[in-house]
Amino acid sequence: MPEYDVVVVGAGVNGTGIARDLALRGLKVCLVEKSDFASGASGANTGMIHGGLRYLIYDIDTTKHSCLDSGYIQKIVPFLLFRIPFIMPLTLKLSLPFFETYFEVYDKYARLKRGMPHTMLGQKEIKQLVPNISNEVKYAVTTDEWGIDPQRLCLLNGLSAASAGADIRLHTEVTDFLKDPSGNIIGVRVRDKSGAQELRARMVMQATGPWLMRTSSKAGVEVKIRPGKGVHLTFDRRLLNYSLIINMVDGRMGFIMPHENATILGTTDDDYYGDPDDLRVSEDEVDYLIQGAARYLPDITKARVVRAWAGIRPTLFAWGKNEDALSRDHKVFDHEKIEGVKGIVSIAGGKLASYRLMSEEAADLIAAKLGSSAKCQTHLLPLPGGEKEVSEKEFSEKYGVPQYAVHRMVYRHGSRAEEILELTRERPELKETVCRCEPVLAAELVYCMRNEWALTLTDLRNRTRLGTGMCQGTRCALKAAAVLARELDMSAKDAENSLLDFLERRWKGNRPVLQAGTLEQEELNQAAYFLVGNLHRLLAGR
Ligand SMILES: Cc1cc2nc3c(=O)[nH]c(=O)nc-3n(C[C@H](O)[C@H](O)[C@H](O)COP(=O)(O)OP(=O)(O)OC[C@H]3O[C@@H](n4cnc5c(N)ncnc54)[C@H](O)[C@@H]3O)c2cc1C
Repeated sequence: MPEYDVVVVGAGVNGTGIARDLALRGLKVCLVEKSDFASGASGANTGMIHGGLRYLIYDIDTTKHSCLDSGYIQKIVPFLLFRIPFIMPLTLKLSLPFFETYFEVYDKYARLKRGMPHTMLGQKEIKQLVPNISNEVKYAVTTDEWGIDPQRLCLLNGLSAASAGADIRLHTEVTDFLKDPSGNIIGVRVRDKSGAQELRARMVMQATGPWLMRTSSKAGVEVKIRPGKGVHLTFDRRLLNYSLIINMVDGRMGFIMPHENATILGTTDDDYYGDPDDLRVSEDEVDYLIQGAARYLPDITKARVVRAWAGIRPTLFAWGKNEDALSRDHKVFDHEKIEGVKGIVSIAGGKLASYRLMSEEAADLIAAKLGSSAKCQTHLLPLPGGEKEVSEKEFSEKYGVPQYAVHRMVYRHGSRAEEILELTRERPELKETVCRCEPVLAAELVYCMRNEWALTLTDLRNRTRLGTGMCQGTRCALKAAAVLARELDMSAKDAENSLLDFLERRWKGNRPVLQAGTLEQEELNQAAYFLVGNLHRLLAGR
């Protein structure tokens, strides 16, 4: 039976962050994830390493921690962050002094994350920046935040943990906890496609986000969260170059944000009582978001939404508060102190933006319990690809690949992009652009299969944004399936199954936003896959 110092359960941003931290301290770590990296909240958020602007009044500690740690994240993974300038429209002249003061206070914290100080704008200036904004918007204030690809952030933490010696076990579910006769935790029982196995561990770290209550009940400990569902919409292109902070019909705050090659609009925030593994978006939620955005950008009702997606916030439990007013603070649960159960620690709440700090706190506790005095290094050591700056122009000339493709590759992989481009020396056909929307070269897909645990088209999408652009996989899915099948020496049937799984996930996101013309186009699209591509044969066997 394998034995570890620590088994970390869940490869979201907290689980991967903690696994990295503990592995860098020299502990023997195993990270276990039932699906892929960032399959929960960490892959379904707004992707903002923000400073916690809206928590300033009622949760100033969250604002301070978010800003401080955003500064560290910029240092360790500079290639994966991009600045998002924000405009916050104000309708009432009376409110200007309040906002001026609010942002003056925020500027002090924003400095910790290299934020720009705020500016007040009049209507003429606002119109210059966002020409299609509603005429009702007469005043505005600016601020800025940082955007990130959260899926790659988790993956890079996982890669770093692995190179420090951690075992990474994806598509492996923790089905139960091993206990001694006193009920203390001494390991976990896991299941993957090859069967069940027991992993012994001196400590188990629960970082299962929205699944915390489910896994905790198996461990015999209590972690109470108030799961909150959040829905986003993705538009097919950048509708604007500045993000707008908006107010929804119920007064909640929302965002319309250019994000990479698209625009995202979000988010809802509702208590969620359902199964975290069966999360669906309703048409009402789509209407609510569009209604909120249209007040500021009336044209948005004519823009094309390509998909809707949802995630669950693993927020700390509180009674009697509206979802929006719940604290975004976090808690590390020392179950030995709380319930007298040894061998297990849990983490809940918090933000993507402060994941590193939260991970450090959890790792400090575990290290102390295991008698390790090694210190945290995650704010000092770069994540893979962050070791040095690279020149996109030089890469483009050296390898004969268009600079716009190199640009996206460097955004995702940092200096490791060179290892990807090296693959094209031996096999020049790998220069082919498989996904034109992002774009993604065949070489990047091969690299992810060889170095980043990708085994399916969905894994490739999570690592490269394959099929997440305007065409939603229509032009790239078949080509990518061919690259996958060749690299992994797959049977045609396995490759087709991977293709069908990839398409079904895409369609789950498309369904709630299809209407009129887009519905007909989607029907034609599906007919092509099922009738011409013969995928209907596979459905019969499912
Ligand atoms: C809609 C929305 C918008 C948000 N926007 C932002 C934002 O812009 N900025 C920000 O800072 N924060 C944001 N957040 C918050 C942030 O995403 C979360 O705080 C953070 O991702 C939580 O990470 P986690 O690792 O704790 O949980 P998760 O990411 O949910 O990870 C839990 C993991 O555990 C795995 N797991 C569960 N059960 C098992 C099991 N039995 N065995 C093995 N694995 C298991 C799951 O598959 C999952 O991968 C947002 C959240 C949501 C939902």
